[in-house]
Amino acid sequence: MKTSGSANGELFVVATPIGNLGDLTPRAREVLGRVDLVAAEDTRHTGRLLQSCGIQARLMSLHEHNEEARAPELLQLLRDGRSVALVSDAGTPLISDPGFRLLQAAAQAGVTIRPLPGACAAVAALSAAGLPSDRFSFEGFLPAKGGPRRARLQSLAADPRTLIFYEAPHRLQSSLEDMQAAFGAERPAVVARELTKAFETLYRGSLGELLLRAQEDADMQRGEAVLLVAGVPEQAADDEAELTRVLTILLESLPVSQAADAAAKLTGASRNRAYRLALQMSRQHQ
Ligand code: SAM
Repeated sequence: MKTSGSANGELFVVATPIGNLGDLTPRAREVLGRVDLVAAEDTRHTGRLLQSCGIQARLMSLHEHNEEARAPELLQLLRDGRSVALVSDAGTPLISDPGFRLLQAAAQAGVTIRPLPGACAAVAALSAAGLPSDRFSFEGFLPAKGGPRRARLQSLAADPRTLIFYEAPHRLQSSLEDMQAAFGAERPAVVARELTKAFETLYRGSLGELLLRAQEDADMQRGEAVLLVAGVPEQAADDEAELTRVLTILLESLPVSQAADAAAKLTGASRNRAYRLALQMSRQHQ
């Protein structure tokens, strides 16, 4: 299908369902049915989706291991005036899914890029969580290794925005443990599991309560989940950021206990809080 009016073809970024097939939009069906090529993270998975809609399409795989090689190939097709739809296994492409290299190359080459909005687990979870949604930060997947993961969480501890994380089921409990250590047991949070599917469940509570629940209820760790954590109120965020800044300087030349004493005096924070944070910060740098 040559796109009239421009030499280049168009690249459609098409969201697909995250569970409930009813969430494939009519516009997505129409575009998937008429493009020259569908670039899919897993061609068998997308093939089944298209088959269920009665759509026959030419498929090409585009995943994290072949994207570097495939992107120039797809760009050439677009330059030849062909239309391409990019889809991932579920939800919106590029949101913790492949496609960035292709999009970057297509944007640089002046190809027309059209988003077809639809399901996205992060937005679906936020829309139903009941946590502040005026400002939020999508954090994707945390690093898999404990040290870098804890360091990332610590860097977010004073963030006033609602934080949204994707997590693999087998890491849910350890993530909740690390979050409790970094953000405190009282911080409000939500685990949104199996969204749009038969066993959809939203667990609401403090991080401490959710951790207890995960330890007791094996179901909570089954299936896919989004983890959302409320940010700290603005004033508390400023205080925490100031305490972290002062401790960073003091810990360069003082042992933990003395750094905590001095930081508490300088910032007005309690000695206990300064000591806990100083200890965490010094452990991360060991
Ligand atoms: N691109 C997708 C999107 O727009 O949401 C996300 C892909 S990412 C590889 C997969 C992660 O998204 C899962 O590990 C889980 O954290 C989240 N996820 C996907 N589907 C979900 C669902 N139905 N319910 C809850 N979380 C889901």
